[in-house]
Amino acid sequence: MRPELEATLLHCRNLPSPPGVALQIIELAQDPNASLADAARVVAMDPALSARILRMANSPLYATRRRATTLAQAMSTLGVNATLSLALGFSLMQGLRGRGSAIELQEQLWKRSVLAAVIARLLAQHAGTGRSDIALLGGLLQDIGKLALLHALSDGYARLHAQAIGNDALLALERAAYGDDHASIGAWLARRWNLPAVLVEAIACSEAPAPVDDPLARCVQVSGPIADLWLAGDEPDDHLIEQAQTWLATCPADPPPTLDVLLPEIAAALPDINAIFDIHIDSPTHLQAIGEHARELLILRNLRQIQEMAQARDDTLALQARMRELTEQSRRDPLTGVYNRLHMQAQLEQAFNDAGQDRLLSLAMIDLDDFKQINDRHGHLLGDQVLHQFAQSLHRNLRDSDLVARYGGEEFLVLLPDTDETAAQQALERLLQTVTRLPMAVVDGQPLHVSFSAGIATHNGKAGAFPNLHALIEAADNALYRAKHLGRQRICQHTP
Ligand code: GH3
Ligand code: MG
Ligand code: MG
Repeated sequence: MRPELEATLLHCRNLPSPPGVALQIIELAQDPNASLADAARVVAMDPALSARILRMANSPLYATRRRATTLAQAMSTLGVNATLSLALGFSLMQGLRGRGSAIELQEQLWKRSVLAAVIARLLAQHAGTGRSDIALLGGLLQDIGKLALLHALSDGYARLHAQAIGNDALLALERAAYGDDHASIGAWLARRWNLPAVLVEAIACSEAPAPVDDPLARCVQVSGPIADLWLAGDEPDDHLIEQAQTWLATCPADPPPTLDVLLPEIAAALPDINAIFDIHIDSPTHLQAIGEHARELLILRNLRQIQEMAQARDDTLALQARMRELTEQSRRDPLTGVYNRLHMQAQLEQAFNDAGQDRLLSLAMIDLDDFKQINDRHGHLLGDQVLHQFAQSLHRNLRDSDLVARYGGEEFLVLLPDTDETAAQQALERLLQTVTRLPMAVVDGQPLHVSFSAGIATHNGKAGAFPNLHALIEAADNALYRAKHLGRQRICQHTP
């Protein structure tokens, strides 16, 4: 918190410390051994407080068969924790309410607090946390920071509050003006008042943007947006409903209650709450309509989510397909359509490693014979066409497990896994026969034929293992050179 603000809050005479009774209750609330008798002694000091406790015990909120007529009976109905929580809430509210300026805004803030208190308690009951009275107190005190700011800065805060449209805007304005929002200022105050740690925590987290872990603090966190929806009256906008719904879905109950369940419960609790807290909170007249509208919105949102998910899945599939397409494209030589040298290099390394010291691996280096003449006679474009046809016929006339790649200009590599010298020789001879028979282009109505020469080297074959891939390629290349030297259109084996 900014030091100026802290000083203002500390020296604000309007901002009361907890009244004497509240102080003693706080002390008792910290004491795990506090008994009903201890609590009764403290509460009895304040007649107004006693009357409220009695009323609370007899309200349907704590429905019992037996009507409590004495404070002692009321407190035994409520139990120590509920008594202390309620007593603390009442006396803090009493101490802060109706003092200073901007009374109207104050009442508005108290209304929201009391409403949030009821809601937090209902949510805690749904969640079965067993601490619904602490939730009530957390709901009631979550906005204590707003009241403190209003007491300390009066019109200044009232103006800022009026300026803000919606809760998020208020938080942003507070942070900009004071360096802190009402939730952390409230928690600071609660800490100074020595309130139990769970309350300090619930207040501190009450405006956290995401659901907090602690179930009790979460009930308090969820109570705010639902109180806002309630206070919006008969025609709340869809945004408020959706916001309330989204938060409600994070209520720690399993399953979380829906708005059309919770809203009537709030309505049922209000008459007693109004009387006990001496406040007047209206129920929207068309509560059922709001509940129904909320349900419609929920259905619409679920539908939208399903649509979005389906769309996202389609997008992902299309993206994956495109990725595969692009990956495949990046492996291909654009002119000939067979694998490119880069991809072949990776495949060769893999195959060489896989072959190890015992598996056969043959490699053929192929080079078109007198290809320069084709370019020279018929032009580069026709040369390109021939290269494409040639590569495709290599690809078509080899086994699926054999890999063909363009190694350079008119040179190709063929990888033949698990193939010995003889089989590789046969495969290449057959390929040579087929390819030389096939016309690669038609020039002036005449078929154009080509031939090739090839060199074969075999890893782990008769000559044994090659020390590395480079040596294997070099051996195939040397064999090719020999094939050219011996007159072309032939296949030569590497000889060590
Ligand atoms: P040899 O039988 O000794 O291999 O003779 P060659 O003419 O095939 O060999 P040389 O290395 O002299 O010429 C290869 C030719 O291949 C030269 C070059 O213009 C041509 N070439 C290389 N890449 C391409 C290409 O992408 N398209 C076309 N049209 N020609 C290419
Ligand atoms: Mg050539
Ligand atoms: Mg060449």
